[in-house]
Amino acid sequence: MSDNVLEQIQSLRAQLEEYNYQYYVLDNPTVPDAEYDRAMQSLLKLEMAHPECVSADSPSQKVGGEALAKFDQVTHRIPMLSLDNAFEDHDLVAFNRRIKERLGTAEPIGYCCEPKLDGLAVSIVYENGVLVQAATRGDGQVGENITENVKTIRNIPLKLRGEDIPKLIEVRGEVFMDLEGFKRLNEKNEAKGDKTFANPRNAAAGSLRQLDPKITASRPLRFYAYSTGQVEGLALPNEHFAQLMRLKSYGLPVCPETKCVVDVAQALEYYQDIGQRRAQLAYEIDGVVIKVNDKTLQNQLGFVARAPRWAIAFKFPAQEELTTLLDVEFQVGRTGAMGVTPNSNVSNRTQLEFQMAA
Ligand code: NAD
Repeated sequence: MSDNVLEQIQSLRAQLEEYNYQYYVLDNPTVPDAEYDRAMQSLLKLEMAHPECVSADSPSQKVGGEALAKFDQVTHRIPMLSLDNAFEDHDLVAFNRRIKERLGTAEPIGYCCEPKLDGLAVSIVYENGVLVQAATRGDGQVGENITENVKTIRNIPLKLRGEDIPKLIEVRGEVFMDLEGFKRLNEKNEAKGDKTFANPRNAAAGSLRQLDPKITASRPLRFYAYSTGQVEGLALPNEHFAQLMRLKSYGLPVCPETKCVVDVAQALEYYQDIGQRRAQLAYEIDGVVIKVNDKTLQNQLGFVARAPRWAIAFKFPAQEELTTLLDVEFQVGRTGAMGVTPNSNVSNRTQLEFQMAA
């Protein structure tokens, strides 16, 4: 391997570590997600071509960021992992092919498809049906204890409903802020001269990771459950979708857009359908998550360093991009109104938003 390749790998790792710190620890990303994803894809490509360079401390092998010391720490009973990404149809087709090869089957695979909610992952533990602990994902092994904050989120039950509740059940899902709540919060903050949030994801993360649960309580946060972790004392159904429906019967909110499909063509249709309706959804999503539905097959497929082999996040094309502003043209119209045309090197797939302070 040449010195040049090693330098590129080191530089990408340093860049990604800095992005991770700003995003996961400070809830204050400095670059758009698309820029982050590109740097990560470049690193993965180089590491794949030079496997001797892969080390356990590379950002490609790690989940999230470290738990902040100002919170008590919670060691997850089962690690909370990330997801591999697909960006194009052929990535999803390759995912489906890998699964069939690993399972040694030519039969169609059943998938559960879910919107990829743009918030932050939390783990909530119920003992004998009562909420006893909640934590952020943190670095996947150790998260932050945010129990009192999570208890203030209105659609999270403090006590589960119904019969057949396991002695212990860890529910995992996404805490997010819907678009209406996000708009209201920013308007309120602006009126008070307080800090406004760049997007609903930052607003959700910043609202949840507060030492004072009263601040969290004042923010319009919501939750959708999307999986289970540790379960003791009662077996849940053996299919992912059926487990979600069981969680729903316990009074936990599950995203109504969740759907079972058979094989990759239907998973692609789901992605396209949600993509077309994305702007009408009440919350922000950045893709869809496709999961093998059968838990026995999930177990056979297992995990790699930071993600399960049985699930993939199929991301939507970027809505926000970094660009260099090359120049700006001003035109004064007949009515005296001024028009502004920014010229940049942004790709034509992405719309350039330009705001000029008056
Ligand atoms: P990820 O966001 O690609 O996927 C894993 C996460 O998806 C889970 O932890 C969970 O929180 C979420 N999720 C939402 N809906 C889900 C569902 N239905 N089922 C399962 N999980 C669901 O991975 P990640 O490790 O959390 O973050 C990586 C991504 O975060 C990057 O691809 C990038 O987009 C963004 N990021 C951006 C910056 C930045 O500086 N802009 C920095 C770090 C990460």
